[in-house]
Amino acid sequence: MSATPTAQLMDGTGLAQRIVDETAAKTTEITRRTGSSPCLATVLVGEDPASATYVRMKRARCARAGIQSRHVALPATTTTTELVDTLTGLSDDPDVHGILLQHPCGPHIDERAAFEAIAPQKDVDGVTMHSFAAMSFGLPGFVSCTPGGILRLLDAYDVDLTGKHAVVVGRSAILGKPAGMLLLAKDATVTYCHSRTRDLPTIVQEADVLIAAVGRPRLIRGEDIKPGAVVIDAGYNPGNVGDVDFDSALARARLITPVPGGVGPMAIAVLLAQTVEAAANQLGFQPQ
Ligand code: NAP
Repeated sequence: MSATPTAQLMDGTGLAQRIVDETAAKTTEITRRTGSSPCLATVLVGEDPASATYVRMKRARCARAGIQSRHVALPATTTTTELVDTLTGLSDDPDVHGILLQHPCGPHIDERAAFEAIAPQKDVDGVTMHSFAAMSFGLPGFVSCTPGGILRLLDAYDVDLTGKHAVVVGRSAILGKPAGMLLLAKDATVTYCHSRTRDLPTIVQEADVLIAAVGRPRLIRGEDIKPGAVVIDAGYNPGNVGDVDFDSALARARLITPVPGGVGPMAIAVLLAQTVEAAANQLGFQPQ
């Protein structure tokens, strides 16, 4: 009797730790050679507990990598103009090398206007139009962290994307859309799916590489995954549940990310790595 095939897990936690270790070494060298420590400014509007937790986690990881962080907590009543002023001030501050605006900021804030107040050279979360355009054109710049983390995971597991059919479920500006652009740059043939897509399962069945970036628990069923596919589950839903039905997907996929421990830690690792890259650029010293 043959055993049920089981996918190999893609260890985002382990890979992220290696990236953070490399980043920490670069931070030490930059600080030693320039006398300035890389610094990430985090901006939080309001008191949403989940957003506050994300910011705390990111600052704690910064501290572990020797990166300074400066936290700006703004009240929920902050206007778009006030937020833009804060971000403009941080963009002009030579002691701040990267800026993270935790979002969502609340329905009364024009988030696009706020993001655009972040100077491109400090946009280490890759949220500005400048960063998106640079990424799409294959020019230097900072990528959106979660898609950047996904691409690093695929690379670490030697997933050859050339000519592969990559299906991205989700088209948000910070996740689905940039993930598709990065896959396209690696010569994958990319299909985007979204809430208006007809017959999602049929399209999913054709995916050599599946990126789930929706925010709907277990939307993707294992039975719809092509045998041997690479499955990246960026979804993070209450109860530590992804967008893919993990147990049934295990029997079909070749490689799969767990939730948690897959994409999440990679996104933070990319944020840290890009903060140190921004600091190196601004301080004029490139660590080895
Ligand atoms: P979002 O802005 O709400 O976008 C969700 C996308 O999914 C939209 O494009 C939406 O389509 C699409 N969608 C919704 N229902 C669908 C359905 N039934 N079938 C197909 N597509 C559907 O969310 P997001 O910010 O991209 O986040 C997506 C997930 O990733 C969430 O679980 C979030 O927690 C997680 N996430 C993880 C990280 C990380 O670092 N690990 C970072 C960011 C987000 P429309 O465009 O048509 O509305």
